[in-house]
Amino acid sequence: MGRSYTYMIKEGSIVLPGDKIATTEELVAGEGTFEDRGDIIASIVGKFVVDKEKMKAIVIPTTDTPLILKKGDTAICEVKQISDSLVIVKIVHIAGKKRQIAGEKDAAIHISNISNEFIDDIGRKFRIGDIVRAKIIKAEPAIQLSTKDKRLGVIKAFCINCRNPLIRKNNLLECPICGHIEERKLADDYGEGNIDRVVK
Ligand SMILES: [Zn+2]
Repeated sequence: MGRSYTYMIKEGSIVLPGDKIATTEELVAGEGTFEDRGDIIASIVGKFVVDKEKMKAIVIPTTDTPLILKKGDTAICEVKQISDSLVIVKIVHIAGKKRQIAGEKDAAIHISNISNEFIDDIGRKFRIGDIVRAKIIKAEPAIQLSTKDKRLGVIKAFCINCRNPLIRKNNLLECPICGHIEERKLADDYGEGNIDRVVK
């Protein structure tokens, strides 16, 4: 005890499959690793830790741990379906979190949670394929989202005619290829690609 070890990779680092972590003179291969010609190699993506009692190299999986979605999280979503009163989206990322979302996570934005202004036609605020930043206002039993804040709303959209990314022009969007003009509930930083912007 009290001895410090220097392995090929620093303890606590995130390793990828195939990374050499240490040698078999230093450690034995534990979970998430294997031995190969005197080296201990990571077999999964994860965090390298050492079981000091057994002098065992372990890689703890990170991507396998499901990311729990919570009320207050800022979600990046793709619009899948639109009805008279709901936008159904798939959550693809949580802003500021490195971990992946486990499996498919669908969520809904009710028409009353889109904007502070009255909306009579939901189809003019969102289109299928839009990328939206929204806040989780209810996580259980079904995920409910809001885009009421000016920082929330569509951050990327595509022309309905030619599928090109639309460019912001004042409060509207314009297709640089065909000139088509479209409306959306825009986030104030539309087009800037800030997928990790957290809205508190
Ligand atoms: Zn176009």
